[in-house]
Parts: sequence; structure tokens; C-alpha cells
Amino acid sequence: PQGNQINGVATEPTTKKAASKALLRSKKEELQAQREALPCYEARDNITAAIMANQTTIIVGETGSGKTTQIPQFLYEAGLTKNGIIAITQPRRVAAISIAKRVSEEMGTRLGDKVGYSIRFDDTTAPSTKIKYMTDGMLLRELLSDTKLEKYSVIILDEAHERTLRTDILFGMVKGIQKERKDLKIIVMSATLNAERFSQYFDGAEILYVAGRQFPVRAFAPGAQLEDYVDAALVTTFQLHQEEPKGDFLVFLTGQEEIDNLQKLIEEQARDLPPKCPKLLVCPIYAKLPTDQQTRVFNPAPPGTRKVILATNVAETSITISGIRYVIDTGVSKVRSFNAKTGMESLTVQPISKASAQQRSGRAGREAPGFCYRLYTQAAYEGLSEETEPEIMRCNLASVVLMLKASGVDDVLGFDYMDKPSRTSIVRALEQLYALGALNDEGGLSELGQQMAELPLDPVYSKVLLQSVKYKCTKEVLTVIAMLSVDLIFFSPNDKREQAGQAKKRFMNYDGDHLTLLNVFSSFQTVHGDAAWCAENFISARSLKQVQDIRRQLVSFTSRQGIDTTVSCGTDNLEAVLKCFLSGCFQNVAMRTPDGSYKTLVGNQAVYIHPSSVLFLKKPDAVVYNELMHTTKQYMRNISIIQPQWLLDVAPQYYGRAAARTTG
Ligand code: ADP
Ligand code: MG
Repeated sequence: PQGNQINGVATEPTTKKAASKALLRSKKEELQAQREALPCYEARDNITAAIMANQTTIIVGETGSGKTTQIPQFLYEAGLTKNGIIAITQPRRVAAISIAKRVSEEMGTRLGDKVGYSIRFDDTTAPSTKIKYMTDGMLLRELLSDTKLEKYSVIILDEAHERTLRTDILFGMVKGIQKERKDLKIIVMSATLNAERFSQYFDGAEILYVAGRQFPVRAFAPGAQLEDYVDAALVTTFQLHQEEPKGDFLVFLTGQEEIDNLQKLIEEQARDLPPKCPKLLVCPIYAKLPTDQQTRVFNPAPPGTRKVILATNVAETSITISGIRYVIDTGVSKVRSFNAKTGMESLTVQPISKASAQQRSGRAGREAPGFCYRLYTQAAYEGLSEETEPEIMRCNLASVVLMLKASGVDDVLGFDYMDKPSRTSIVRALEQLYALGALNDEGGLSELGQQMAELPLDPVYSKVLLQSVKYKCTKEVLTVIAMLSVDLIFFSPNDKREQAGQAKKRFMNYDGDHLTLLNVFSSFQTVHGDAAWCAENFISARSLKQVQDIRRQLVSFTSRQGIDTTVSCGTDNLEAVLKCFLSGCFQNVAMRTPDGSYKTLVGNQAVYIHPSSVLFLKKPDAVVYNELMHTTKQYMRNISIIQPQWLLDVAPQYYGRAAARTTG
């Protein structure tokens, strides 16, 4: 019979059903054509053969060459999932989710069937899952219950060049497991060329280089240092938009707050564009972006529009978005840094490395020659460090040391690290865990420590949650922890600062941010998450929904430990909630000094109350804070008032001993 042509595919006409089936088929063929165009697909036979022949293989390939999406499929088709499944780790949850979605489409299966993802608070895998994208943290967690990772026949450690703390620990763990499980295949995938380190570490494993296709990218830099990079990004966006031919923009920023901010500014200013100018479509992408909004970024810009993608580091190498011709690079990213001497960890916006700057500019040249506009001078570029320092060298190790101990690694100092952290920071972590009560006097895991390791939280918050049983406020503590794990509960539009501030006051609790957050959540529950209510109160409905979701998951984890999650302290004894938080965050205490600034109790560092805190003007004598964030100064965020004498109560091992040290 005569057929219609849909995308060059001959199909049968007649019914609607047939037509939609034909569309589906052509979509499938379209996907297949896209797959076949990827460099990894061309190298398919070599890649599969090398993996089959070796226990461990290192694969290096340009970002976007198809490593993450294709290689697991090759192995699946080659039959490597007969006796176990394939795990692919990702440092970032957004990448795990979006890539799992893509691969399930390519394989023509429903997400959660043959292909699934598993991230903290969200697991879509089923017994039928063969290819499992997961965060590196999740695989570490699985090691607690499955010490030999028996489920898996292949472990792919992806984005190895990023050297995240958890991936680094996984290197050592899987290397150890492979000594006993000769059938386990390990694949290390990296986007940068310096794979020798990985090969050396994995006893001389073979390195495969997948030839990429990269078009030249012209880089531009300003002649003088710019004052404010968000503002510079805004100006550059509009200038390029009006002067340059079509092609999407990718702007690298440091986090959600900045991204939301710039999105608003761009959307406001775009209203003044001349009518004949193409429209701008702003698409944010960052770790905590709700899943349903993540796919938008991958959709091609509709005709007559230009997409402006505002991204964190996730777009540097983890995910590839088509259509980008122009990269705007602020030259900074937000990183965790830990001062082993003072024992303080904080989030800091820092200059990226040269390797990162090159990766970022590379994103403009994947499909055609592109352009990269660096918002920092050439001299600043020359001054960047060559490589990003592995995270293990610059963050608090308490959570991984606890994880190692719980996975049966007793000698954490002697563990097979690819880069060994300083002795001081390991000892610090051991001390902190001891003070939290996770370790006993012999340095072994205590019963509390075992329970702490089983919760999907930082040890500090595991402790808080477990202590809530004693303080009879589990219900409240669960809420506050869930609230703290989401950024930006409140929003404050530039033109409505005043009203937003007033709205926030309605929820204010005079003891600080923790209990204020509790009020917000209770009110949100009372109105059943009403969107209009949220808007009126300048509360992000999106974030609150996420909080609900996280809380639900936390409840299920906590009840699995036999804890009654409904025990409540009521409204009269909210002090219990604060004591509970202090029992975990006892190292995050600061005291006011006569000049009104604050000094940390541990390390005696100058810190300041963040302007977003309800205690900003009040300046109480002693506070506990949730985290430090370094911008122009070290700011404490999410703060509550405490009584200093509570410290002896909640952390006797720590403050009792410290006191003994100073007096004795
Ligand atoms: P690599 O891991 O080598 O950086 P990937 O396997 O992630 O490369 O990407 C290969 C291709 O798959 C890219 O062209 C990318 O655009 C496409 N891709 C990946 N995820 C998605 C998605 N969620 N939607 C659309 N395309 C995607
Ligand atoms: Mg990849």
C-alpha cells in the first residue's frame, strides 16, 4: 500500500492510532540515528571488546561523546547483565535522573523498568532493572548492606575526573571488592585526558581513548576585572543576543539563588527587547531543580526563540545539552571547603581551575564552531590552578569515615585512597564522630554509630534525628531537617523586598530560624499547600512540595529503625527541638563578642549572622548555626538561640573533655 512520509519513514495511513504509532516509530528511529552519530557508537566494538577482555578499563572521551548513555547499553546488549546488573555512578542527582530518562527512551522501555535511577530520597528501580544510574552516595550506602556489591556485574564510576569525595572512596572500595570478586568489572570514565592517575591506581588498567569531535571555540576575555559577575552575565547575554546569529547560550553560575536571580533579571529586561528580536527562553538547571522541570532544558528552542540555559557545574561535563553555541563563563563555582585546623567547613564561591574553564568553553563547540565569553581577564585565567583539587583534600570527612567504619574498614588511616587526605583531617573526623557518640573508646562503631550510618543523612543530622527520641520531638525534628535540606524556602523579588520581609515576620519564632521553618511548614500543611497562599506569603510552593516529599522519605527511613515518627513535643516545649539540634551541631556554636560580632566556640573564628536569618537584628548571646557560607565574610545560616549550659548536657564527650583540657 501507498504510505505517508513522516520524517522520511514510510508508514501506513488510515487510522489515528496507526498515525501515532508511526510517529512513535519515527521518534525511535530518530533516537537511534542520534545514537549512531555519537563517537562512542562508532567505537562500540572496540569498547565492548576491551571491557570484555579486562577486569578494569579506563575510558576517556570528550563530554557529549556518549560515554554515559551508550556504554551501559553496549554492555547490556553484550550480555553482561546475565549474572548481575550494571551500576553507573554520577556525582550529581540531576545527571542521574535526566540520563536515566534518556536511556530508557533510547531503549524503548519505561523508566523504572529495565533502566532506572536511584538517588537519595528517590529510587525508581525495580527487580527488572538492568541498568541503574545512581549517585555515588547511593552506591556507598548500598555497601553497608551488600558489602561485596553482589547485585552488580559491572560498576561504572563515571565523571571520575571530578574526584568527588564519594567517588574517591568508591575507587578504594570497589578496588578492594574486586580482589575477592574476580567476576566484577570496573569501568572508570573520565572527560579529561589525565587518565594515567586512574590507571596507576587500578594496577595499570588499560586506557581507551574515544576520539571526540570538537569544533574550535573562540574565547574572549574582558580587558579589566569586572565588578559583579551576575550583572556582567546579564549585560553580556543581552549584548550577544542582539548582535549574534542564532545558537543557544549557556551561562555558568554557582547555585540556585544566583540562577533564580538572573532568570528574573533576564525575563524583566527581555520585555524591553525590540519586537523583531527573537524571544529569550530561560531554562535553569541545578541539583535541586524539581524533576518535572529538568526536561525543559533538553527541549530544542521553539522557532524564533533563543534558549538561555542558566546552569551550575552540572552542565560542565555531567550533562550535554544540544544547540549551544555561546558559553558565558563566570569563572567561579561553589565548593565545600574544610579547614582541618579549625574544624570548620563552609561553602565558598571560588575560582574554577583551568581544566574546568576549558571544559566550560568546550560546551560551545560540540555541533559547530562556538564562542566562549569569559567574565574574567586573561591574566586571571592564567592564574587559575591547573586542576580542581580532589574534594577529599578539602572537606569534612566525618560522613565518609562513618561510612567506611560501617562498611567494615576499621583502619581508616590506612585505607587505599587515591589521594590520601591529611592525617589531621582524618583525625578530626574521628574526633567528631567520637564526640557525636558514633564511635566507642576503642574507635569502633557504637550502636548509635551503626544507626547513624543507616540513615541517609550527614552524621550530624542522623544524630539529631536519633536524639529526638530522647527529647520526644521526632515529629518536629523531621520537619526541620527536611526544611533545611531544601534551599530557598522564601523568595524576595527585587521590587517587593518590603512585602516579602513583612510576610516572613508572620512565621517568625523569636528563638530563631529552625522554629521559624517549623512554623512555615505547619502553616503550609494547614492550608494544604494552597498555591495562592504560598504566593501571598512569598513562600516557594515548589520548595515546600519538595520538603513534603523529603519528609515522607525520612519518615519511612526512620520508622524502619523502629522509631515512632509521630512523637511530638507540642508547642510548649519547643526548646527540646533546639537541644536536639545542638546535640548534633554542637561544633557549630558561636558567641557574641562585645563589638556585636560573633566568634565560633571551636576554632575562635569571626563569623556573622546572615541577613536572611530572623535573628539578624536581634543578635543573641549564643547561637547554634546550620552551616557557614563564605561570600564577603563567613556567614552563619539557619541560626537559633541556645543556652551555653546546654552544651555540657548534649555533648559531654566534647565539651566535658575540652573543659577538662583547659582547666587541667
Ligand atoms: P558523555 O557521557 O560522553 O559526556 P552522554 O552519553 O552524556 O555523553 O551524551 C550523549 C548524547 O546524549 C549527547 O548528545 C546528549 O545531548 C544526549 N543526551 C543525554 N541526555 C539527554 C537527555 N536527557 N535529553 C536529550 N538528550 C540527551
Ligand atoms: Mg557523561
